Amino acid sequence: MRPETVAARGGRQTESVTRPLTPPIYQTNVFVFDDLATVDAVWEGERAGFVYGRFGTPNHAMLERMLATLEGAEAAVACASGMAASTAVCTAFLQAGDHLVAARDLYGSTTALLAAEGRRLGIETTFVDTTDIDHVRAALRPETRAVWVEALSNPLLRLADLDGLARALLPRGISLIVDASFASPAVLRPIEHGADLVIHSATKLLSGHGDVTAGIVAGPCGVVERVRASVIRLGASLGPFDAWLATRGLRTLYVRLERQCENALRLARWLESHPRVSRVYYPGLESHPQRALAVALVPTRAGAVVAFDLAGGRRAVETMMSRLALIEFAPSFGDVATTWSYPVATSHRGVPEADRRAAGVGEGLVRLSVGLEAVEDIIADLAGALAA
Ligand SMILES: *Cc1c(COP(=O)(O)O)cnc(C)c1O
Repeated sequence: MRPETVAARGGRQTESVTRPLTPPIYQTNVFVFDDLATVDAVWEGERAGFVYGRFGTPNHAMLERMLATLEGAEAAVACASGMAASTAVCTAFLQAGDHLVAARDLYGSTTALLAAEGRRLGIETTFVDTTDIDHVRAALRPETRAVWVEALSNPLLRLADLDGLARALLPRGISLIVDASFASPAVLRPIEHGADLVIHSATKLLSGHGDVTAGIVAGPCGVVERVRASVIRLGASLGPFDAWLATRGLRTLYVRLERQCENALRLARWLESHPRVSRVYYPGLESHPQRALAVALVPTRAGAVVAFDLAGGRRAVETMMSRLALIEFAPSFGDVATTWSYPVATSHRGVPEADRRAAGVGEGLVRLSVGLEAVEDIIADLAGALAA
């Protein structure tokens, strides 16, 4: 072969009787076939095989299989972000004329997706306080297709009564869609509590290392295949390297969450006893307003996120920010390092003040994403900052 041919065709294969312990990154956007029978068989799903990057690679399949198993779901589909997952669920599930009931305190971009994009597509969403099942019941219509909640809400860590909602919806054939990004299967497995479909921003706890943006949807095979078709048509696919990173992160989910939840509970207790803190929101605390539900849904680990109100409002938050030495401000959560966020300036920035206050998100509300550090160091950092 001439050098031009070696350059164009070389470097694609090597001989080895061993295989890697850690799967390689299939950084390819297409797969090659040896005969037309295989083309037909793979295309029709009769034989396992991969076709084209946007349709998925072995890295996607490994991530999907692991997450489906952890959620107790039949199948899962990975995609480019949590929002891509939610968008694909909408397009797979809903069409013009359909109605949706959604929690009033969903993640801001999800609210915008359902309200703004939904309206353009002729899909109407009624936002209600889904912690009250009577409010959900009252909002249902003959054309209601699904109820959309978050397992643990942002930023006040309210719980959705999944079993109660599922009991109310099942006889009417309405699906329960649960965004479990704040929980992860190490904290709560929504399918065990009657959810039909679970959505994750894998950007957060599932990946856990702040180095990837990804989403995933888990549920029954038939529904997941419809969502997968949407992901492929929307072009909302994840890249193989990001799928690989998410899989790598997911391997340590349980050890991370065990430590993070333990740290979060200790921090929540410490914050509750601090004179400058007027209120702490954490499902592991006896003071959580839905304590009985919390014991039923998250009996052993109550999540890595703790929120608290500083009595001094925005000025107290600013002072705290200027004094924190270790804990950094980062408007996300789920990292191995503890970070904090300020909902009024980030996730709830676009929410009108009256609605924000009605939702209980005030000027003194701080959201902590608790990491893997020795909790004494986190407490010391906060103690110094709050003493100011
Ligand atoms: C972050 C987040 C999303 C969106 O996920 P991206 O990966 O940023 O697209 C959706 N729902 C919840 C609850 C989130 O926290």
